Amino acid sequence: MNLTPAHSFATRAVHAGRDDLGDLGVHAVPIDLSTTYPAVDCAGEAARIEEFASGAQPSGSPIYARLHNPTVARFESALAELEGAEAAVAFASGMAAMSACLLATAAAGKRHVVAVRPLYGGSDHLLGSGLLGTEVTWAEPKGVAAEIRPDTGLVVVESPANPTLTELDLAALAADCGEVPLLVDNTFATPVLQRPLERGASVVLHSATKFLGGHGDVLGGVVACGEDFARGLRQVRVATGGVLHPLAGYLLLRGLATLPVRVRAAQASAHELALRLSAHPKVAAVHYPGLAVDRPGQMDGGGALVAFEVDGDAHKVVAAVELITPAVSLGSVDTLIQHPASLTHRVVQASDREAGGIGENLLRVSVGLEDVDDLWADLSRALDTA
Ligand SMILES: *Cc1c(COP(=O)(O)O)cnc(C)c1O
Repeated sequence: MNLTPAHSFATRAVHAGRDDLGDLGVHAVPIDLSTTYPAVDCAGEAARIEEFASGAQPSGSPIYARLHNPTVARFESALAELEGAEAAVAFASGMAAMSACLLATAAAGKRHVVAVRPLYGGSDHLLGSGLLGTEVTWAEPKGVAAEIRPDTGLVVVESPANPTLTELDLAALAADCGEVPLLVDNTFATPVLQRPLERGASVVLHSATKFLGGHGDVLGGVVACGEDFARGLRQVRVATGGVLHPLAGYLLLRGLATLPVRVRAAQASAHELALRLSAHPKVAAVHYPGLAVDRPGQMDGGGALVAFEVDGDAHKVVAAVELITPAVSLGSVDTLIQHPASLTHRVVQASDREAGGIGENLLRVSVGLEDVDDLWADLSRALDTA
């Protein structure tokens, strides 16, 4: 069955990446675990190896699993479809995806990146440490345009941002970036709630480990973008080998089918929990986009994460939950709580953490699919111990 733009998002989420299954005479997506493939025609394969190395996707045999995998390609085409992108390129993790974006940009002669805090702690660390030779300038959202230089290859932002859930006006930022590609980490919103390319961004990054997989059992990353940028990413992937495993590609494609249902159900509970948290005596502040006034208007709802500041000892809350799991990560079917200053944002310098509102009292909850009253009973009881 061929999808058309007339099909709704939910329909495309179920059917994308599966166009040829009827012709294959199967119902579930095949998993191709080959690491190598028969290569009889040496001259033909030589030409195709050169194409793969240049970042193209020649049809026919993948030749070797680091060059291409058909199961992973299904996930890539489905994610591109949902983000409204020309192409998508998948990686072994979200950080492998971010690394490839920085390496591909640097390989094109542009090592300078302008970035807006807060970002996921790992991204902040990768940019700030200079591990990949990137030079970063941290800017306020309104100051991005002023920091762009001739060698600026990328502007990196997150909205809603991890862990404070601050939203940025993506259309305004895209306009300020001019010719420089705006990379938006869309891990928190997912394409169900927000599609940055429709607002003028050029590159969308996901830690697929989170909502796209959705069950806490697969690590992956993916970048949705134009075909030109995708070629640079595939070049890096072929050369450096940060590929997504085919089984992970299968699980991520399966995750996309239920993504709209999962994200909307979790969002409804998150909104309710944000309201109840606002009225709890041990909560000093709630950070939830759905309760904010004066929003940029690019996201359909507040999302499935809630951050809040405890009026008391936040560590005790983490230790006291029973139904909710104290753990990093997010976007799974079950609810997780974590202390960003100790975990996800530990690798950010303490002074930058404090300046970014990531204090000792801040907790972040990734709301899952449990009953909201059960979640509230657990969370409010844990808060009482703070
Ligand atoms: C988890 C996360 C990442 C990193 O992804 P991994 O799959 O853990 O490598 C990047 N950005 C955001 C917003 C994240 O939450």
